[in-house]
This record gives sequence, structure tokens and C-alpha cells, in this order.
Amino acid sequence: MNVDALSDHLSKYVVDILKKRGIERLYPPQEEAVRKGLFSNKNLVVAIPTASGKTLIAELAMIYEVIRGGKCLYTVPLRALAGEKFEEFSKWEEIGVKIGISTGDYESRDEWLGECDIVVTTSEKADSLLRNEASWLRNLSLLVVDEIHLIDSAKRGATLEVLIAKLKKLNPNLRIIALSATIPNADEIAEWLNAELIKSEWRPTPLYEYVFYPGRLLKFENGFLREVKAESSIERLIVRTLEEGGQVLVFESTRRNAESYAVKISGYTKEFVEDNSDVAEKVLEENEGEMSRKLSECVKLGSAFHHAGLLNSQRVAIEKAFREGRIKVLVATPTLAAGVNLPARRVILKSYRRYDSGAYAPIMVSEYKQMAGRAGRPGLDEYGEAIIVTKTRDEALKVAERYLAGEPEKVISKLGSETHLRFHTLSLISEGIASSFEDLLDFYSTTFFAYQNEFTLEWEIRRIVLQLEKWGMIVEYAPTSFGKLVSKLYIDPLSGFIFKEELSKFDELSDLAMLHLICRTPDMELLSIRKADGWIENELENLREELTYYPSIYSAEYDFFLREFKTALCLYDWINERDEDIICEKYGIAPGDLRRIVETAEWLMHSLRRIAEHLSHNLASKALKLEMRLKYGVKEELLDLVKLKNVGRKRARKLYNAGIRNLEDLIQNRKIAEKLIGSRIVEKILS
Ligand code: ADP
Repeated sequence: MNVDALSDHLSKYVVDILKKRGIERLYPPQEEAVRKGLFSNKNLVVAIPTASGKTLIAELAMIYEVIRGGKCLYTVPLRALAGEKFEEFSKWEEIGVKIGISTGDYESRDEWLGECDIVVTTSEKADSLLRNEASWLRNLSLLVVDEIHLIDSAKRGATLEVLIAKLKKLNPNLRIIALSATIPNADEIAEWLNAELIKSEWRPTPLYEYVFYPGRLLKFENGFLREVKAESSIERLIVRTLEEGGQVLVFESTRRNAESYAVKISGYTKEFVEDNSDVAEKVLEENEGEMSRKLSECVKLGSAFHHAGLLNSQRVAIEKAFREGRIKVLVATPTLAAGVNLPARRVILKSYRRYDSGAYAPIMVSEYKQMAGRAGRPGLDEYGEAIIVTKTRDEALKVAERYLAGEPEKVISKLGSETHLRFHTLSLISEGIASSFEDLLDFYSTTFFAYQNEFTLEWEIRRIVLQLEKWGMIVEYAPTSFGKLVSKLYIDPLSGFIFKEELSKFDELSDLAMLHLICRTPDMELLSIRKADGWIENELENLREELTYYPSIYSAEYDFFLREFKTALCLYDWINERDEDIICEKYGIAPGDLRRIVETAEWLMHSLRRIAEHLSHNLASKALKLEMRLKYGVKEELLDLVKLKNVGRKRARKLYNAGIRNLEDLIQNRKIAEKLIGSRIVEKILS
């Protein structure tokens, strides 16, 4: 179908924009979407491979909606993706469509988004906006859910299905368009949403799949394996791709393996690279620690590694350079497959295992399909190739049967767990969506969980209601002010209860005890204990007096407690201005991990502060200071300085030590400041 045909439903201007983007004809699945009611009020579930044009289907539906005077919400699973989509959609501003993005702090309403026609957000943020009564979410006419197959995610899937059910309830005429990877039970999702299903294996570039074992490459075709050629090594496979002008994406099981393979392969990529020095510099802009230096060296030579320990700015720089073809080989851990969209001619799974919670486990078939789906850059490569590396012929055959011939796993609702039900039940009562037991059952009966399961959650919900009552969060299916606050803060009710209990026991707490308190909540991501962490117990001996809680060394909780204590110590070092690289080395983490932990801690300290304020507890002001100190990573005396734009913890310390303690001092001692941190920076701060 030629895009000119769309001008009946959209307008000539819209078609012109598509053409400007190089889109002349619709892909077959897109055409099918049009046939099945893209330009109508019908709900759609689109389950097609990566890069086969899902986003465009959603864009066309949204523009159609906006032209009709409607308002759209587009939800994504990751913050990084929200930014990507926002940028993509901003192209429509040319025809007057207003695009907004909301990924910031919880406990805000972002009412200005009411002005936007299309808002991009993560599902958690959308849920938190609902809890904070953002009025514009009650005027939605179209909801687009990207990556709906993530309903299967143990951690985040429940929020996704509850969000959909809530928005449907609040906007009875809401149209839903759900985008999914190819999953075997897409029909279930479609039936749940009362939607037309568009399911296809069509790809803009064909995908060829292989298994490798030393000396041999086997191609999978029409259900059979065929020996194609003798191949001496993976490195040969990679170099051959580079010689033909392609790029390679390699998946490794652990961060350490990803890093060392990126280093190894840089010896080969260096022949193919021009000048990457600007990217290499960018990688060192925020941090110059060991990991960052290693990454920067790799980038110079045309390779890179990608894992959750990278800083955000590093990740963005690497992804951009890879898209531009300047990084030839990217070695990633499996987390990448679920996130950003980075196609390459060849995808090589050096390992089909992943390392998680202390153990190796084979990846799921669906994960393999996601990874393999990245092979073949549309418009650049004639085809894509995915290769799984094994050690022996036997292993190769087994792997081929499991991954190449196998179907991805079904998507299964994870809403049934107590933690998720507790979290969402409080929000349903707080938002007034449910004000009786029947209301709760009614609501849960509209979820994907209820669609998939014969039994209801009656018994579990009764128990959770009793618990929330005991914790003082609800009374007879109405929220208390405390319950409402906990729901708006977007923390687990158990965290709220732990905070309240602890505040009721103590008038004063040390900095370390406050940090330990937030580490004792289920919302905190805890560091793990390594073999080399014997020093933690020595530290515990010295600091025991400061803590309000420590279990006996013989108790079952002791190991867990050590992790809490280690995490609290890490945060303590951070707010006492220990150097970032030293912290990373001491605790065995990467800069990206530190930032993530600190961000979560800031949100929990904010919650503790708000609860302390609610209880008129005198620790509220201390919690506020700690919240700020976590945000900036400084001692209290630097708070006035770090609040200034362009002043981070290092610059603030330099200024403070020279007697400059706030903006006034800075203006009066401009010359000294310029000597310390450079005249350009001072100019920026003052302007
Ligand atoms: P998905 O969301 O399915 O992973 P995208 O929608 O991001 O895939 O599409 C991948 C790429 O293909 C994008 O660069 C997009 O602009 C392009 N594209 C989509 N539809 C068409 C089309 N009909 N013709 C040409 N390019 C297209």
C-alpha cells in the first residue's frame, strides 16, 4: 500500500512527513493493521518482530486520534526508551501536534501535560500520576502500550496490567493499541483487550540463524541444520562481517566477560575504525575510574561493552556511536536485548546463559528471539545473521533444538504475588477506584491475571485488606491520610509501615541508622556480599552502637542484614564525599550501579521525610537534609553550594575550602573562584 492512500484518513501534510522520513510504502503488517481497523475505534494487538514497523502503526493511530481531537498516552517499559520515543514523535510537532514526556520524580502530577496531545511515559510513572490524581489522565482517548509482553516480567509486569485496567475503568471509551514481540499467546492478550490481532513473522530484512562449535558453522533452515562451512573461530566470523562493512552485536553472560571480550576484540576492530576520540572523551566526561577508562580505550579502537554498570551518559554515547557505525562491535549483557533498539548485521551469542542472583541459568527462548531479532539493519543490510556459540557438536544440536526450533514462552500474568497485590490494593482504595470488597474483586476480575486463571484472588485480597487495616492505611475500605500518602509516595506499603514503626520508637537516629532504615525496606536494591567483604563485619563491630537493629550472627536474617549494612555504608561514604571511584572499588560496583542505588535511596529518604512530616516527628528535618545530601553526595556544609546549577560535589568542595560558602561569597570572590574551577564555569553559574 502506497502511503498516499493514507491521506483519506489523515491528511496530505501527514503523508508528506512520512515521505520526508523515507517511508513510501507500508510494510505488510502495517497494511494488515490498516485493513483490520487502524483508522477506527477498534482495539489492536500488534505482535510482530522487532524493526518491522510497530512504532509507525502506533504513530499513525495517534495522529489519527489527535486530528479527531483526542488525547494519547504512550507507555514504555524503560526511561531510556521514553526519551527515544519522545524524540521520534517530536517530528510531528511540525504539523502542530504537542508532544510531552513524563519520567521524573514520583509524587508529582505534571498537570502541564494536560496541554499535550501525546504524552510518553513509563508505566510506573503513569501509575504514580494516577495515584497523585493527575486530572488529565481521565481525559484519555487512546492508550498505546509498547512491549506489552512484559506483563510476564516478575518485577514490573503487574503494574503494567493494573495500569491498563485502571485507565480502562477511568476512561470507559478508551481505545487501546498494544505492541508486542512475537509471542505464542498474543491471541490471549487480544481477547483480554477485546482487540483485533495482527500477528506476523514478517521482517524487513530476512534473518538467518546458525549454531557454531569449534571448526563448524551450522545453518538452520526449514527445521533442519545444514553444515555451511568450516569456521575456525568466532573472531574470524566477526572480522569477516567487518570486512563486508557490517557491525556485530555480541552477547555475553556476565559484565566481566563482556568487558574482557570487548578488550580482546578491539585488537581486531582497530583496523576498521576512523577517529573515535570524541566519543572516547565523552565516556570519560563524568567519571574517570577503571571501568570508564577501559571503555574509553575500547571505543578508541572501535569496540565497546554495554551493561547496567555504565553511567547513563556513557550508555547514550555508546548507543549513538554504534548507530552511526563508528563502534564496530558492541559486547553486551542480556539486559540490552530487552531495552534499546540497536540493530547489527550479525548477532553472536557467545553465551546463551545469563548470570543472575549468584547463579548461571540458560536464557529464555523469548530472550533469544529478542536478541536474534536485532540482526539485520533495515535499509543497510540485505539480511541479518544470528549465531549461537557452543563448545561441542552435541551441545550445538541441543541448543538448536531449544532455541532455533523452539517457540518463545507464553506470557503469564505475575499479578498473583502478595507484594504486587498489596501495592496495588492500597492504590485502588486510595484513588477511590474501590470502596468495598466487591469493588476490589470487580476490578481484579478485569486484569489479565483473571483472564488467564480460573480462580479468583478472593482469599489473598481479604488477607491484604486486613493487613492494610492493621497498618493504619485503610479503614473500612476508605484510605486513611497515612495510607493515601504511602500510595502517592509509590512505595511498598510494607516500607511505609517499617518507617512508621521505627519513627514511633525513636526520637533521634544517627545518619547511619537512617540510611540503614531505608535499606531495610523491600524497595531498596541491596548490594551483594563478595568473598573479599570480610571487612564489613569488622566495620560492624565499630559501628554497632549507631544502629537500631542488628540480628544475632546465628539468626537466619544475618546474611541479609549484612547486605543491608553494606548498602547503608556505601550510601554513608557517598554523603561524606568519598571519591566515587574509591567507593566503586571498595564495594565492588560500577559507577552506574552507584548512581542507581543513590537514586533509589533518595526517593526512599524523601518518603521517610514525608512520613515523618505527616507524623509531626522531629526527624523530618534531618531526613530532608539527608535527602539533599544523597542527591548531591555531600556533607551538610556544602548544601548551599551544590544547589547552584553547574556546581557538583567536587567543585563545591574546592570552593568551600577556599572560604566560598554560598552564592554571595561567590560573587564577592569571583577571581578566587575562577582560579579554582575555571572562568567559563563561574560565568555559567552566575548567568
Ligand atoms: P519496531 O517498533 O517494530 O521495532 P520500528 O517501528 O522502530 O520497529 O521500525 C524500524 C525502522 O523501520 C524505523 O527506522 C522506521 O522508521 C522504519 N520503518 C517503519 N515502517 C516503514 C516503512 N513502511 N517503510 C520504510 N521504513 C519503515
